[in-house]
Amino acid sequence: MGAHRRKCDWCGSGTPIVRDMDPVNPEYQYWCEECARALIITGDPIETYRELEGEPIYGRLLEEYCTLKRFYSFVMV
Ligand SMILES: [Zn+2]
Repeated sequence: MGAHRRKCDWCGSGTPIVRDMDPVNPEYQYWCEECARALIITGDPIETYRELEGEPIYGRLLEEYCTLKRFYSFVMV
């Protein structure tokens, strides 16, 4: 290793945790946790992705958001 560490394509400072394997815009492929979470919250999650840290960080974000969504709809009922 030792090569330059890649930064988040969106904010340019975060450490990417997920890569969009089928990006809408090829300039934005690597996402840090904060930016990836923002995508999920705005309802535009990365659909084809690869975890970069060897653990399902993005998968957990998706799960967390879905739980939240379920919680909210439960509250609304
Ligand atoms: Zn970012």
